[in-house]
Amino acid sequence: MLTLKFRNFLKLSRSLNGLVRIACDEVSLTSCQTKYFIRLYQTLHREEGPGTEMGTKNFFSFTDYDCIGFDLDNTLARYKVGAMIEMEYHILANYLVDNKGYSASHLLKPLDHNFIIKGLIVDDENGNLLRISADGTIIQATHGTKFLTEEEIKKYYPNLRWKATDLFAENPLQTWNGPYSEKMRTLLDYYDIIASLVFARAVDSIDEDSSEIKLYNIWPDLLEALQDMFTREHFQNEQGKYFAEIKANPDKYYYKCSNHLLNWIMALRSKGIITFLITGSYVDFATHTASHTIGQFWRDYFEIVISYAKKPGFFTDKNNFIGLDGFSETGPVNLDDLRLGGIYTHGNWTDLKDFLRKCCSKKDPKFLYIGDNLVQDIYAPHVYAGCETVTVCEELEAEGVYGHDKWHPDEQFLCSTIWGSYFKCSNSGRLTNWYEMMKKHSRFFVPSLEYVAGFPIDHKFKVNIY
Ligand SMILES: [Mg+2]
Repeated sequence: MLTLKFRNFLKLSRSLNGLVRIACDEVSLTSCQTKYFIRLYQTLHREEGPGTEMGTKNFFSFTDYDCIGFDLDNTLARYKVGAMIEMEYHILANYLVDNKGYSASHLLKPLDHNFIIKGLIVDDENGNLLRISADGTIIQATHGTKFLTEEEIKKYYPNLRWKATDLFAENPLQTWNGPYSEKMRTLLDYYDIIASLVFARAVDSIDEDSSEIKLYNIWPDLLEALQDMFTREHFQNEQGKYFAEIKANPDKYYYKCSNHLLNWIMALRSKGIITFLITGSYVDFATHTASHTIGQFWRDYFEIVISYAKKPGFFTDKNNFIGLDGFSETGPVNLDDLRLGGIYTHGNWTDLKDFLRKCCSKKDPKFLYIGDNLVQDIYAPHVYAGCETVTVCEELEAEGVYGHDKWHPDEQFLCSTIWGSYFKCSNSGRLTNWYEMMKKHSRFFVPSLEYVAGFPIDHKFKVNIY
């Protein structure tokens, strides 16, 4: 029987409830025990600080930055995503049935949570959903809800390639606006991933009506339903169903930030790091979300708050900041008139960066932005704004991968046995473009900020474990 001797094996291991000290001194282990301890040792080593042979560039620490920005929704504000996705499906499907004449027998079936996965790409003309690799190769596809073989995929996309996804792979912002944005849409976060099932079922219903070659053109109707759901005016005027439901039942849809996380942000500020919030939500909904997650005094956690920021354009364009009087926009605000403790809408990164530079009195401060949307929060700030980024990706815990325990209360909504892993295609084994984007454009990825708040702010995370 294999044995191994571990001398003075002393490491710190994180458990769910905190840090547990493990010490093994001169013990003989069976092969099974040996494997266990090797695995444990590898896990521990991932999160150890400097002092190993790897050098500092392989470690990430939040305190290496002078200014740290946060996205709000699905980053600082964690949603109970299962409940939210169910609610969104109900609203979107009923909108298409009631207002656009889609088939109730298809769209109003019980939600099939196993069909959905974050990051599907919609090909509206062909009625298909796609996943691609980083080089743009189409690695998985459905027509409606029917999965396609590789041969079937090639009939739609010769050599497994499509101009729209090639452009997207080259630069995701090329298809964000303009003609290709009407041909392909990416479903990137828990606000819109359920649109994939609505779309696929609508395709199925059209196919059932006729076997002739069709023009689907479903996306404009689905986009109208999404816009109706998220129209910013609906938060205050009580129209639409999404905001009304969240306002009526906040505890059903939001998790509260733990005191660990709130103290962790305050510890960053105490260290002199400037914290700021950039959210796409309009100020009324952002206030509602932040109040129910961060707390009543949420503004105290940030030096400046930008709402309705229109990411990714915030990082690439030069829109004016707009002042606020309560929840009403006033007028353009110049860079010199931005104030610490202020809250604004719209705006742009170039001016915000200058403002933050003045605030921290450094000529060349280091900026970090933390978010969940890989195009809006990760690619755009990294490529266009010189910001380093951290990705928040709940699938890390839902799938239990890359050093994280498999634990997520809404695992059934985030994981799919049909599509396979969010990070890797099940049948070909090829890594998805999303995995590659995370790896290339973020310094570090975590399942939630609650995870990092379990460590001291200056903890050095090992980053080359992927
Ligand atoms: Mg977000």
